[in-house]
Amino acid sequence: MTEQILGLHHITAIAANAQRNFDFYTKILGLRLVKKTVNFDDPGTYHFYYGNEQGTPGTILTFFPWENIAQGHDGVGMATDIAYAVPANSLDSWKQRLAGFNIAIKEEGKRFGESFISFKDPDGLNLTLVEPVKADTRAPWQTADLKADMATRGFHSTTLSLRRIDGTAAVLTDIFGYKLLAQEGNRYRYTTDAVENAGIIDLLELPDGKPGYNAAGTNHHIAFRVADDTIQMKFREKIISKRLQITPKIDRDYFYSLYFREPGGVLFEIATDNPGFTVDEPLDQLGSALKLPKQYEPIRADIEKELPVLVG
Ligand code: ZN
Repeated sequence: MTEQILGLHHITAIAANAQRNFDFYTKILGLRLVKKTVNFDDPGTYHFYYGNEQGTPGTILTFFPWENIAQGHDGVGMATDIAYAVPANSLDSWKQRLAGFNIAIKEEGKRFGESFISFKDPDGLNLTLVEPVKADTRAPWQTADLKADMATRGFHSTTLSLRRIDGTAAVLTDIFGYKLLAQEGNRYRYTTDAVENAGIIDLLELPDGKPGYNAAGTNHHIAFRVADDTIQMKFREKIISKRLQITPKIDRDYFYSLYFREPGGVLFEIATDNPGFTVDEPLDQLGSALKLPKQYEPIRADIEKELPVLVG
């Protein structure tokens, strides 16, 4: 079993309205809700996981929809863009589709030879769709109106905005096994050979950048993937040896987590493939029922009363 970092595991962001978030990600972007649970530290708030059919690591975007939380804004020390891979020649269809939902394209063009379009989710979170030079062969989740010729394949990359990239780059190269692939202006692209997909991190250097505000419409943390919690704990030792603070192993029911803040200020997590999203419901029913960690089952009725009603 490979003892490497296997690209991205998941990205977690903040939203201000559960229903609006659910509608956008399942009906407009066409992701599958693979788990409907609560914030383990704040069980009056949902925790939604969106991904492909199985919720494969590298496809999972998660949200804490805190109803009516303040609007956040991006800045240095944060992940400021999430990019999904889409099939070749699908961006024109995506532009038409997004226009049909009155979603404006904020930017389009080519980066590192790959065509992309960028837009925002209803909370202002930056999203990008990329046609990778090398086709992404992951099986897509298909919906009634988003078939394999358009559907997202999972993460292409994420962008971290930083005042200086060197400390962050050192974590990627010296601990995580990434290497610098290319540079375009102030954007530095790092990749790992350990995986075919979801293996790109772009570092955007903004020497005069201001710190952001981590609330609605911003990313909370990015999680890197390892095969299991034995390998995870070896990375914990490596991170401690670089004199960085890191949490103990935390059981998130669907994976094990470690968290540390990298030198550029972004909250990093290392998360495991085991046990995965089918640990408490079968594949064909993922995301259909509210799942609670066992410590909250005794107060399920109170939690269900507090959570906003979600209309599928
Ligand atoms: Zn996480």
